[in-house]
Amino acid sequence: MSQEGTPVFRRGAELPVRADVVVVGAGITGAAVAHHLARRGARVVVLERAARPGAGATGHSGGMVRAYDEDPAIAALALPSLAVYRDPGRWASGRAPLHAVGAVTAADPAQGTALREAAARINDALGASAHVVGGAAEAAGIHLAGGIALVEPEAGWVAPAEVTVDWLRQAVADGAAVHCAAEVRAVQDDGGRPAVVTDAGVLHAGAVVSAVGPWAADPVPGLRPATPVRTRSIQVSIVERRPPAPSHATFVDLRTGRYAKPVGTDRTLIGMPHLVWDCPVDAPPDPAHVQATVSALTPHLPWLPTAHRVTTIRAADAYAPAPGGGAASGLLEGTGVPHVWSVRAWNGGGVKTAPEAGRLIADAVAAGTLPPSA
Ligand SMILES: Cc1cc2nc3c(=O)[nH]c(=O)nc-3n(C[C@H](O)[C@H](O)[C@H](O)COP(=O)(O)OP(=O)(O)OC[C@H]3O[C@@H](n4cnc5c(N)ncnc54)[C@H](O)[C@@H]3O)c2cc1C
Repeated sequence: MSQEGTPVFRRGAELPVRADVVVVGAGITGAAVAHHLARRGARVVVLERAARPGAGATGHSGGMVRAYDEDPAIAALALPSLAVYRDPGRWASGRAPLHAVGAVTAADPAQGTALREAAARINDALGASAHVVGGAAEAAGIHLAGGIALVEPEAGWVAPAEVTVDWLRQAVADGAAVHCAAEVRAVQDDGGRPAVVTDAGVLHAGAVVSAVGPWAADPVPGLRPATPVRTRSIQVSIVERRPPAPSHATFVDLRTGRYAKPVGTDRTLIGMPHLVWDCPVDAPPDPAHVQATVSALTPHLPWLPTAHRVTTIRAADAYAPAPGGGAASGLLEGTGVPHVWSVRAWNGGGVKTAPEAGRLIADAVAAGTLPPSA
């Protein structure tokens, strides 16, 4: 296995002529798929338009991970994914990437039974200590503002770009090639198999998996998913957290969509839904939303109004209704080009699902148990 710090990602030119599977996009999703496919013995080539991996949604992401999700299909991916993020044996670095600061999911008290059932499932599967806090003002440094909370002490956050690079290093160690600054311009049907057109030449592939994240909203020819994808803005701010402000767990409020997470020991990331659709992936920050976010999170983090704002980050993710059923459980869908599939849109939650989604997609590609591609 490659040592940390060894440059293993190639720039642009000298693409191979053939691959079993081409993965387009070196975000966290493409990296997870490439790692699992290479581990299964496939000749994998990853093509990334940017100069480095993790330059899209992944590189801007807060990386909050928890086992719980309101959507059972997402929860089924998030729970085993958390187990992977906790396990040091799964990483080239030899370290588990999870910062287990705990996760607080606040909800309406009417959700109590559902949350208790979820806590029992999580504890059974992970040997964890998830529990529901009801009638308390505060849990793990977060004011609940009249809600109840599912507390997952074993959850927290990961650094998504580091996870991405670790998986790509493992893929390279297993024989994959990762080419950055290699933009895919089109994917064509070449006698029933895909031909991947780049500036550096044409690559013939047995199959293509498109993991282009928000770029799927306006994809290159041949990579358009059957279910249209839209971009939606995600804007977060990072503020200083100084004593007497307490340390806290990651936080999501299901009632409002507001969220927060610690960044290191003395900063906090805050966010809430920014319902701007069909935006460019690199739109500038929205100052009105910055102030509205501070006000909206203050009932949960009362120290926020006097906290110094360090920076604001605006990016986008791909949003779409989950594709239905299929052999890859709705994770992949066709593009109209034979043997070319697109990964589903992650609707703002692709980090917490990536380990299990990558494994299932690789299984389906390797076994040929895929939904129709054309
Ligand atoms: C601010 C923010 C906070 C978030 N917080 C969380 C969180 O706390 N928890 C969570 O689970 N999720 C979170 N998310 C969502 C999560 O980060 C995304 O769902 C996930 O990173 C998507 O990964 P991806 O690999 O699908 O897409 P991306 O990371 O966008 O990767 C797609 C890649 O494809 C490349 N590409 C595009 N077109 C081409 C082409 N033609 N040729 C070659 N390469 C191409 C791009 O350059 C890019 O690197 C957040 C997102 C944002 C923006």
